[in-house]
Amino acid sequence: MTSPSTPETVTVLRDVRPWGGERVDLHVAEGRIAAVTPHDPAVAAPSGTPAGSPTDDASGVVDGRGLLALPGLVNAHAHVDKSWWGKPWVSYGGEATTQGRIAHERAHRDELGIPGVDVTLAVLRELVRHGTTAIRTHVDVDLGLGLRGIEVVREALAALGGAVHAEIVAFPQDGVLRRPGVLDLLDAAAAAGAEHVGGLDPASIDRDPVGQLDGLFAIAERRGVGIDVHLHDGGDLGAFQVELMIDRTLRAGLQGKVNVAHGFAVGDVPASRQADLVAAMGEAGITMTTVAPIGAAPLPVHALRAAGVAVGLGTDGIRDLWSPYGTGDLLALATQLARLSRFRYDEELVTAARIASSDAARFVGRAVHDLVVGAPADVVLVDAENVPDAVVRAPRRALVVAGGRVVARDGDVLV
Ligand SMILES: [Zn+2]
Repeated sequence: MTSPSTPETVTVLRDVRPWGGERVDLHVAEGRIAAVTPHDPAVAAPSGTPAGSPTDDASGVVDGRGLLALPGLVNAHAHVDKSWWGKPWVSYGGEATTQGRIAHERAHRDELGIPGVDVTLAVLRELVRHGTTAIRTHVDVDLGLGLRGIEVVREALAALGGAVHAEIVAFPQDGVLRRPGVLDLLDAAAAAGAEHVGGLDPASIDRDPVGQLDGLFAIAERRGVGIDVHLHDGGDLGAFQVELMIDRTLRAGLQGKVNVAHGFAVGDVPASRQADLVAAMGEAGITMTTVAPIGAAPLPVHALRAAGVAVGLGTDGIRDLWSPYGTGDLLALATQLARLSRFRYDEELVTAARIASSDAARFVGRAVHDLVVGAPADVVLVDAENVPDAVVRAPRRALVVAGGRVVARDGDVLV
């Protein structure tokens, strides 16, 4: 997609305001931020560029025109293997329970070509269009598909040429122990490079929480991978399973490698139990990802972060056989997280943006993901006064740079 007007590689992203601060020039080399210098008007703006959106020239100098710069957005909980984004509307026809959704998906995914490279590419491009440059995606692994979904996702990621950095969770959507053979598939996925093994409601789906967690932790210890468990179970039942995970994490020495996804129980147990749970999670280095769902008790985001529990934000599935809802706009989801969390102060709104970008580095296996020297050159530009303004409005992404390449501009994906 290289042409004089859309350079594949950026050398200087000039005149941008990282996190709403002073104007700087970001110098890029080999896909990383090589230097951040005060904006120098003498760095030539590309000639003949119209006012308005960022433009560039063949030298790789891209004019940011003073726009607000954020790091590329990080989608810490996605399911890019099973959307019908871009296809004709599919009416939801399953029962509105976890098991009902699983059964509905099993029955109809073949009709939609799920999993398929085209399906996954459509979702990934929609994420990129909205500024997401890194994801942790759960990919279904089950007795019907085996590891085919993971192969499909890898193929789609490769087709985008690195526009999206991804870590994969081998996800047993249909259960683990109740489907003999799935643990072996998860182990095979880990052996083949999946960064994490997933789990699903060990109590209510497998009806054997100790057994499922024993199986997952055994793989994690054997293969050196992480664990990322979907936990929809609320209240005491959910909290009990979080406690089981805390216990195993400490015994296995897997601090920092275990994530609870959703974890509605952490939001809905009584305050005193919540405080104990949050403190224990922090001590065990357990992390959480949320999709900021409407209708569930919000997670205590401030308390979690204060206790050292990193919180990631994700889209979950987008327009799939579980739900017609969802878009690829993670910044709009940061707005939703902020509203559900009743954030009003500027520093809280900045926290929402950090959760959606720099603070999510660990969820995608990065040591640093920010607008600093040494970080991957993943940048999103928006026309906003400051970060709080960007979070509450989620304005159009004027420019998206991933790994030092322009991958989207003004709503058009270039990869
Ligand atoms: Zn999910």
